[in-house]
Amino acid sequence: MTNYPPRRPVLWALRTSMSDIIDSNELSTGDTKMEIDWVRCIPFYLLHLSVVSVFFVEFSWMAIIMMVAMYFPRMFGLTGFYHRYFAHRAYKTSRWFQFVGAVLGGAAIQRGALWWASHHRDHHRHSDTEKDIHSPKQTGFFYSHMGWFMTKQNFEFKADKIKDFTKFPELVFINKHDVLIPVLFFIFCFCTGHFWNGIFGIEEGSTWALSGWQVVAYAFCLGTVLLYHSTFFVNSLAHVWGTRPYKTTDTSRNNLLIAILTMGEGWHNNHHHFQSSARNGFRWYQIDATYMILKLLSFVGIVWDLKPVPKHVVHRTAKAEADQARKENENATVV
Ligand SMILES: [Zn+2]
Ligand SMILES: [Zn+2]
Repeated sequence: MTNYPPRRPVLWALRTSMSDIIDSNELSTGDTKMEIDWVRCIPFYLLHLSVVSVFFVEFSWMAIIMMVAMYFPRMFGLTGFYHRYFAHRAYKTSRWFQFVGAVLGGAAIQRGALWWASHHRDHHRHSDTEKDIHSPKQTGFFYSHMGWFMTKQNFEFKADKIKDFTKFPELVFINKHDVLIPVLFFIFCFCTGHFWNGIFGIEEGSTWALSGWQVVAYAFCLGTVLLYHSTFFVNSLAHVWGTRPYKTTDTSRNNLLIAILTMGEGWHNNHHHFQSSARNGFRWYQIDATYMILKLLSFVGIVWDLKPVPKHVVHRTAKAEADQARKENENATVV
């Protein structure tokens, strides 16, 4: 990309996405660009198409509530477990609870915890260099958003990058059979809606009534697609649009909107500055719902050893570094 960093990030993102979609050959050139396996991604398109199912069931606020109620726990499965635990080991927990986390994240339908975390470790290792698997700077917005995981090469599970977790057969099993949890989640959605009225004694036609297909349409189809793109924004938009308080070697940004949608992952410049912490919102006003939940879980002893952000790391902003350099220069001149 020659015009990086973009002056108008949103326009730039739209333009690169369109050119990537129209000219897919462009994706097969260069060091990190790989060819998209369009056929293998059919389930991914179908899930997107399935969003229209909301027009074939009756609208219901209860179904919207159900969608939100199933969005945030699954998002936490990705942020609290897939990202901060499996990829970064930012805290400790028991074997049974890490399995719970792998199942919860699995319900977000972004493949297994080991696949997800092994690729994410690679992103940090090579952030925005030619070897980065999803850098908007190197390969454009569309590819960093979703093209990268649609390629044959990145379908592979990088076992050597996540050896610390491949010793757990239960994790390897659900990682290998990563369709299992999504199927169970589909059944769970249908059953929740189907038995809802009977369990709570709600009359059909009431505001609080639900049907199986309503929950499938809203929580499974629409909710999952919303979950997809909110998460994908961390790899695409959070490297394009936002502020950069820290002078990292990559293009990561802090973005409040993404932080809200992803329960704290939008503080991406913070995270690239100090990736091993359980906390991404370094300041009190940087909302980090994932960290709040982890903190609550640590109070009851389910998780422990949450890695903090050292104070000197929080205060080492680009501005503080520039001020320090200026002071040193002035002192040197005085002497
Ligand atoms: Zn990043
Ligand atoms: Zn990370």
